[in-house]
Amino acid sequence: MKKLWEEFKAFAFKGNVLDLAVGMIIGSAFTAVVNAVVGAILQPILGLFTENVKLEDMTIGKFPIGTLLQAVIVFIITAIILFLIIKAISKAMSLKKKEPEPAKEPPRLCPFCFQEIHKDATRCPHCTSDLTGK
Ligand SMILES: [Zn+2]
Repeated sequence: MKKLWEEFKAFAFKGNVLDLAVGMIIGSAFTAVVNAVVGAILQPILGLFTENVKLEDMTIGKFPIGTLLQAVIVFIITAIILFLIIKAISKAMSLKKKEPEPAKEPPRLCPFCFQEIHKDATRCPHCTSDLTGK
């Protein structure tokens, strides 16, 4: 039993589990916000078409589809926003990765023998031509 507790501690205090917990807390808070927005904005709009029937009270026969409909709408909105956030994060990360790559200058070539030479050279090390007059 003690071994199990040790294993649990090792699992629970790993960084990624804490990240996951934070993500879940933020996610559920986020869902609550979306829920409230859907309730506050969508319900009155829907009420225009359904003669002020509340979304929760909507039924088809005996089936209360209103609650299900609201859950589906909340899910879709949450999924779209999360998708956009993840897309933005991955884009920002890929931009960061590409940044430390300075543009490489093309090598300077001797105008006489066309060998590669140092950019500040005044005399070609290959054919000994004077490069200052150029
Ligand atoms: Zn040369």
